[in-house]
Amino acid sequence: MERIQNGIGGSTVASASERASAVFNPATGEQVAELPLSSIDEVNAAVAAAKAAAPAWGRTPPLKRAAMMFKYKQLIDENVDAVARAISREHGKTHDDARGEIQRGLEVVEFACGIPYLLKGEFSRNVGPDVDTYADRQPLGVVAGITPFNFPAMVPMWMFPMAVACGNTFILKPSERDPSAPMLLYDLFGQSGFPDGVLNVVHGDKQAVDAILDHPDIKAVSFVGSTPIAKYVYTRGTAAGKRVQALGGAKNHMIVMPDADMDKAADALMGAGYGSAGERCMAISVAVPIGDETADRLVEKLAPRVQALKIGPSTDADAEMGPLVTKEAQDRVLGYIDQGVSEGAELVVDGRGLTLQGYENGYFVGGSLFDRVTRDMTIYKEEIFGPVLSVVRATSYDEAVDMINVHPYGNGTAIFTRDGDAARSFADQIEVGMVGINVPIPVPVAYHSFGGWKQSLFGDHGMYGSEGVRFNTRLKTITSRWPAGIKEGAVFNFPTME
Ligand code: NAD
Repeated sequence: MERIQNGIGGSTVASASERASAVFNPATGEQVAELPLSSIDEVNAAVAAAKAAAPAWGRTPPLKRAAMMFKYKQLIDENVDAVARAISREHGKTHDDARGEIQRGLEVVEFACGIPYLLKGEFSRNVGPDVDTYADRQPLGVVAGITPFNFPAMVPMWMFPMAVACGNTFILKPSERDPSAPMLLYDLFGQSGFPDGVLNVVHGDKQAVDAILDHPDIKAVSFVGSTPIAKYVYTRGTAAGKRVQALGGAKNHMIVMPDADMDKAADALMGAGYGSAGERCMAISVAVPIGDETADRLVEKLAPRVQALKIGPSTDADAEMGPLVTKEAQDRVLGYIDQGVSEGAELVVDGRGLTLQGYENGYFVGGSLFDRVTRDMTIYKEEIFGPVLSVVRATSYDEAVDMINVHPYGNGTAIFTRDGDAARSFADQIEVGMVGINVPIPVPVAYHSFGGWKQSLFGDHGMYGSEGVRFNTRLKTITSRWPAGIKEGAVFNFPTME
């Protein structure tokens, strides 16, 4: 059985930890690897390697850092299928879906190649007589990232390319469920010419996370995962004096206006609700048609599409959706479907009891569709993170907007309409961080920034884009005057630039 290794100081290192967790192939239910749960000492060793590399790396000219980033981009491009296979084997998503997540991560690597321009400071000549001021964004030192299972390549790539391009060194603590893709990214990073210790990968669980949060040499922590853990990471990390951005869970609504093209809206909901088996933080899990007539038309379009979903292992090129990541995730999602039924929602398509020939032990759940879900039901309030779409009927646009605005999560949302006024007012009024207008999964491109509102993000900065530069650097402002401009005599009043 393969035992996953850590990546410390440019090498792969076997963990000495006796604690371990199993990595499964969710399509077959077979264990495919053993993951060591690293000790505090092993986290400390990674931090020491990152700390040793930080001063020289922080002084390396941004253009040189960018040249390595270009090489890294090229190597990921060349190895995209190998990384995608590793993702699919341990996560379960289809091969094309895995390639898609690598592509979106790669776009952040491409953006990070522009770091010399992104770090250009500001300069003001003559802020006073013979006085100049310039502002410079400098690296923080050692920073860390803690990532979830659902995007084992993309979410780490939201973090470390920007962090290292800005001149920091990085510790990645990936999810325990699918550690092989992050290790491939680590290997390719090393082959790109980056110095040892600039990127380090330590596998582990809460113990490793706590060691990261408490370590005095780590200056900032990026986290993506569920809301309770995001809140915990934010609270503990900031209490230890760190800068923290912690992205949490989601419950994303899509309003369907009566004037929307119903076929296109239904197609959009299929991809956004069931792609990756609903295990996306930007998945649409609630459809909100306006008016009963719209709702009837929408459900009529959705039901046969959900029934016809092609479900299978990632090795099946025709599969549109794979299994859930673990047995626990499968049980949790099935439990939510039971609960929806017992709370009185109408189960239009029942995905329970699905078994696939040859994959009887896989963690599959069929696409499920609920109609007439109400706002007091658990399946509406909580994040299910599975292939379950709830239709909540609203009587008016205003009621739908209110529903979204009072929901504790605020990651993504969308509206399908032909009405420009409705779309514009939606974008203006909605209390959600990422908004789609006839775009069901509005994940911002790499030169914008990703981040939700409310319980979907704790901290002040989103990921990547200009927010990524700000999060990974600190501002220094220098005011200078040369001897020719210095006047004689001490000045005791508060300095003005006169
Ligand atoms: P998770 O919160 O269980 O795990 C995320 C990370 O936290 C992992 O690295 C894990 O090892 C660590 N962790 C788990 N329990 C911990 C504990 N008690 N103390 C300290 N660390 C702990 O999340 P997951 O199940 O891997 O991922 C799914 C969740 O992530 C969903 O809620 C999803 O919405 C969310 N997510 C959010 C975004 C976003 O951008 N907002 C993106 C992807 C996923």
